[in-house]
Amino acid sequence: MHTARTAAVVGGGFYGCMLAEWLARGGMQVELVEREDDLLRRASLANQARVHGGYHYPRSLLTGLRSRANLPRFVAEFPDCIDTSFTKIYAIAARHSHVTARHFVGFCRRIGAPVAPAPAHLARLFDPALVEAVFAVEEFAFDATKLRRACRRRLAAAGVGVRLTTEVTHIAPHPRGGLVVTARGPAGDHDLWVDRVFNCTYARLNTLLAAAGVAPIPLRHEVAEMALVEMPEALVHLGVTVMCGPFFSVMPFPSRGLHSFSHVRYTPHTSWTDGPAGILDGHRYLAATAPRTRFPLMLRDAVRYMPALADCRQVDSLWEIKTVLPANDKDDGRPILFEHDVGLRGLSCVLAAKIDNVFDMLDAIPQADAPPSRRAA
Ligand SMILES: Cc1cc2nc3c(=O)[nH]c(=O)nc-3n(C[C@H](O)[C@H](O)[C@H](O)COP(=O)(O)OP(=O)(O)OC[C@H]3O[C@@H](n4cnc5c(N)ncnc54)[C@H](O)[C@@H]3O)c2cc1C
Repeated sequence: MHTARTAAVVGGGFYGCMLAEWLARGGMQVELVEREDDLLRRASLANQARVHGGYHYPRSLLTGLRSRANLPRFVAEFPDCIDTSFTKIYAIAARHSHVTARHFVGFCRRIGAPVAPAPAHLARLFDPALVEAVFAVEEFAFDATKLRRACRRRLAAAGVGVRLTTEVTHIAPHPRGGLVVTARGPAGDHDLWVDRVFNCTYARLNTLLAAAGVAPIPLRHEVAEMALVEMPEALVHLGVTVMCGPFFSVMPFPSRGLHSFSHVRYTPHTSWTDGPAGILDGHRYLAATAPRTRFPLMLRDAVRYMPALADCRQVDSLWEIKTVLPANDKDDGRPILFEHDVGLRGLSCVLAAKIDNVFDMLDAIPQADAPPSRRAA
């Protein structure tokens, strides 16, 4: 049997870093190629920093269960990157919600997620006319800056070569087998000849497939805005999510010492779906546009549910492309996609879903490529 020995992992987000490390620990010689000037600069940094505990997915039992399985693994693997210093509240909206309080509690029990009525002083923060019930749950945040440092350490320890400020612009089969990856770095273009290529470019997955002459995967993208805010003193140690529909979330954002503020209605600015008719490079699109913040709209709506939020102050906004599988539009489920030989023999594609289900990807690495400790006896 032919065993692949060399690999290029394209994309130095959290998924690319973890995959590169595992492949190297499995015995491959791995080069990680990232177009930004550091690791974890894109979606792995500009996200809500929520380590999902399943609560967010009452319409997708599978995603809820996977979150419960992955949360303790993530916390055990990256203990220094986790912020547990806040109380997490899930409030169930009385109107326009896809779940009722009874359904939410039943779902939490089914997936084994701790849930309890919030203490009275926290429940009182919400308008009882708009909120049916308020729960305290177990949910954490992660610090993406610390995660970046952890990734750097782990890649170095595993012997992965890292090329930053280097964009893969072309992938083609080599006449003698394997793939040739053309990368444009600070010193100009250079080629890598490898057995395998792993496309971990998330929002640019199809941009890279196009560079390889491969048909796009149907993917839905949105320009997402998350405001970064200073919370009023009384709310600093809280994270809040109002479920389940066109509502809002406020989560600690540890890497900046602020809170992120997102709203289901206002966070997505523009969206599109890649398909046979064409693709759009979201990163270039975002770099070329200057959308106007919608924070005032987010806040105006959120204050109706939680009046004390009126005193929070916007410091900044994070803008990023969010990419999901259109198949999950209905249930909001978040499975990963991990496919091999996509258009070219030796080309694999990963579409991440959430930070914690990186383990779903690692568990799906073909046996021969996995670190020895993960191979079946
Ligand atoms: C607004 C928003 C909120 C989110 N909230 C959460 C949350 O609270 N909790 C959670 O678990 N998940 C959340 N997610 C999802 C999570 O952020 C992503 O699933 C995860 O970060 C994707 O990791 P990644 O490594 O695949 O992608 P990225 O971190 O985007 O990495 C892909 C990398 O590929 C590089 N790249 C692209 N093209 C090339 C090329 N041709 N050559 C070289 N490099 C290239 C990019 O520069 C980038 O660094 C959120 C996502 C968004 C956008």
